[in-house]
Amino acid sequence: MADDGAITVIAIDGPAGSGKSTVARRLADSLGLEYLDTGAMYRAVTFAVLARGLEPDGGEPVAEVARDVRILLEPDGSVLVDGVDVSTQIRGPEVSRAVSEVAANQAVRAELVSQQREWARRRSGGVLEGRDIGSVVFPDADLKVYLTASPEVRAQRRAKEVTDLDYGTVAADMARRDSFDSRREHDPLRQTDDAVTIDTSELTIDEVVTLLADKVRAAR
Ligand code: C5P
Repeated sequence: MADDGAITVIAIDGPAGSGKSTVARRLADSLGLEYLDTGAMYRAVTFAVLARGLEPDGGEPVAEVARDVRILLEPDGSVLVDGVDVSTQIRGPEVSRAVSEVAANQAVRAELVSQQREWARRRSGGVLEGRDIGSVVFPDADLKVYLTASPEVRAQRRAKEVTDLDYGTVAADMARRDSFDSRREHDPLRQTDDAVTIDTSELTIDEVVTLLADKVRAAR
């Protein structure tokens, strides 16, 4: 059981385009749990950092933004920063380019990790997806999943989501971000020994969700 015995936490980690968001949302639905996209939180802070004219690697002023800003993630996927809907902007190229640098800031991570734990405490757990959920945010999660897929499949998936960017640009951005996220000093993307690893390259979303839902039910 996770953290406190009364809650069920499912941690889904993996690189960009591995299918985390879709799988996490669908799995949460099928189990009657809520879903948290922690990448959207790092993106929301990055949006606020850029909007204030700060450099993404700007140290303490960047951390202050993370502590000040009010992030709201709506059930329909909309993301609000200080009451303003920034759902489109946080997926755009400026935020995508800067987010990994903001996410490498230890104080930013401390603030968001604490908000993520609080989010789960207020509910009866939930499905959380990101890069460090099973390794840092909830090391005692009931189920830890590491999703992956080939670089080509991952870039193709992302290129379909962002209509205004070509495949080459998306693939290059993703490779740069994955390398940065895996090598950073604080809470890098990594696979824990106790995670169920699934390569989603050749699987449908339904197949992955069914497989994971069965695992959760078997463990309950
Ligand atoms: O999931 P998504 O690709 O939207 O995440 C955007 C970025 O946020 C990642 O590339 C990573 O730098 C950061 N991130 C993180 N820890 C998480 C979730 C996302 O560092 N738990």
